[in-house]
Amino acid sequence: MERSIREKAEKLKKELEKHSYNYYVLDRPVISDFQYDEMMAELIRLEETYPELKTPDSPTQRVGGAPLSQFQEVRHITPMYSLNNGYSFEELKEFDHRVKKTLAEENQGFEKEFSYVAELKIDGLAIVLTYENGFFVKGATRGNGTVGEDVTENLKTIFEIPLSIPAKLPLLEVRGEVYMPRSSFEKLNKERAEKGEPLFANPRNAAAGSLRQLDPKIARKRQLKLFLYNIGSSEGKTFLTHYDSLLFLKEQGFPVNENIRLCKTIEEVISYCKEFQKKREGLPYDIDGIVVKVNRLKEQEALGYTAKAPKWAVAYKFPAEEKKTKLLSITVQVGRTGVLTPTANLEPVRLAGTTVMRATLHNEDYIKEKDIRVGDMVYVRKAGDIIPEVVRVETEDRTKDAVPFEMPKTCPECGFPVVREESEAAVRCVNEFSCPAQIRRGIEHFVSKTAMDIDGLGPKVVEQLLKEGLIQDIADLYTLTYEELIPLERMGEKSVENLLHSIAESKKRPLHSLLAALGIPLIGVRAGALLAEHFLTLENLEEATAEELSALPEIGDKMAESIVSFFQNERNHDIIERLKNCGINMTEETEEKKSLRLEGKTFVLTGTLPHLSRNEAKKQIEDNGGKVTSSVSKKTDYVVAGEDPGSKYDKAMALNIPILDEEGLFSLIEE
Ligand code: NAD
Repeated sequence: MERSIREKAEKLKKELEKHSYNYYVLDRPVISDFQYDEMMAELIRLEETYPELKTPDSPTQRVGGAPLSQFQEVRHITPMYSLNNGYSFEELKEFDHRVKKTLAEENQGFEKEFSYVAELKIDGLAIVLTYENGFFVKGATRGNGTVGEDVTENLKTIFEIPLSIPAKLPLLEVRGEVYMPRSSFEKLNKERAEKGEPLFANPRNAAAGSLRQLDPKIARKRQLKLFLYNIGSSEGKTFLTHYDSLLFLKEQGFPVNENIRLCKTIEEVISYCKEFQKKREGLPYDIDGIVVKVNRLKEQEALGYTAKAPKWAVAYKFPAEEKKTKLLSITVQVGRTGVLTPTANLEPVRLAGTTVMRATLHNEDYIKEKDIRVGDMVYVRKAGDIIPEVVRVETEDRTKDAVPFEMPKTCPECGFPVVREESEAAVRCVNEFSCPAQIRRGIEHFVSKTAMDIDGLGPKVVEQLLKEGLIQDIADLYTLTYEELIPLERMGEKSVENLLHSIAESKKRPLHSLLAALGIPLIGVRAGALLAEHFLTLENLEEATAEELSALPEIGDKMAESIVSFFQNERNHDIIERLKNCGINMTEETEEKKSLRLEGKTFVLTGTLPHLSRNEAKKQIEDNGGKVTSSVSKKTDYVVAGEDPGSKYDKAMALNIPILDEEGLFSLIEE
């Protein structure tokens, strides 16, 4: 095999890994599903031609993403697979052909009563619910297909999930999709916009983000819903067809989508796809395609599975939705790294679940190549279902007064002359330390979820702090005081306290979060994690040479140079020193030293604590050797009570058990 082929496969693997991480773990894809699936198809083609490329860790062999470590892991009884995808009716016909051929070879007598079940492909996230003797005992996400995250408490907040069902089977494991209805999604984003918090890009991300919250109270507020579409395992009950199993689920009180249809032929399936492509917009929830499943379970069994997906099912994915609207003007925005991005201001248009008013135009070359002019009618689409982009112009609609675009010669925020490197499409403001836009974006990036994760510091608050002169860079965040914050507009006592608490909490973040937060050019979340894992402390990384760095897997020469020059820069050095002096953790091993202060003590939690979520409080207690149980008895040593405590509080009073508030718990730990 030629070296270039091996290199191509390696490159595809790396790219796919990176995008899987963005999609599954961060819930933040940056490319479209179509682009992702194209890359995957290419890798599959290469691996089929050169089987030695098919390593067990290849993205072609893996389902989904790694479960988040904050949750308990759940091993699925049988694996939760992905689905093979197709974007054309031709691919559906090929699927039909393959199915019939295999069944004929297996001598399944499929001609008689063969059917497919066509279902809407709900755009949410896959979950599995386990019932024992009719009672709901556990709920988990799909995770990597073998191991998922235990989200039982969050799932319990979804009213549609029955806590018990009439059929008292020893075991029933059902699978489905949790989603956020469009109406709840719009309400949620409206509330977030009012609070100055970042918006969710689509209902899928909002659903995934809500279900993977550590605090079930948040999940409850998000009004999630679900549809069940499969039985994973059942003891004490068998079915002949998939359709029968869905009817059974319905009888048991599970929500099953009403549009599921039995189809005798692939042509009927194709008509169903066309019908719902049209009806899609009118549904109260998002769908991204149609799932087609062989109906008879015996035939499913004969068809079997690949490493990643069943051979008895396929997903027909709808092409990304495009809408036509008017390009009103073009604004040039300056990003964190100084890149100038032309952004289209559009006549508002509904697109894939949200109202779009702005869309990216990428860069100067893109606009020239597509000949996009202000005043044109343009088509917009969401890349990765997330970022709206202008894809083309309707030249027939062009009027004489449409104006070609010129990239500014100076930075629109600081007036500094801009530069364009020959090898780059981007135009950049190089006034990196004084350009107000770059400073603002850098701080927004530092506090964001995937970096230092400081709650309550949305873009509006950052802007306010800069405007009032309370901060000039990231290190200043750690010296903010109550007295400085309280006079600010929209800042109450509680929000100041919460903000200071989140800032203080962020000091403990592991090194990989800090590395992602610092905004070292070319170093994002994944590279940050790799570097942290290798170097363990910031000091070690600061001392590393470019050669040492580029010898690491996934760190290229440019990244290595970027790291070295970042740490050589005097200003960055100064900021890091100040962060150090404020007590920011600079090591990867942040697992707090476990103390044994609470050893042998049993705690019960009730009510809402001011700062800690239920899970955080539990972790604090367990990290210090204590145990948390769910009910109060004579054996309970302490009850930790917050606002609105339940009957556990009364019971503790009756049994004379000491009741602590959050402060009390802290002082016990810190004694
Ligand atoms: P998928 O979303 O294409 O299909 C499988 C999933 O469909 C199931 O796990 C289930 O959650 C869901 N589903 C919804 N309705 C269903 C129904 N009625 N019956 C059965 N399943 C139903 O597969 P996936 O493994 O979740 O994700 C892979 C896809 O995700 C890729 O094909 C790609 O399009 C996308 N992806 C995109 C990026 C990106 O960067 N844009 C990255 C990774 C993955």
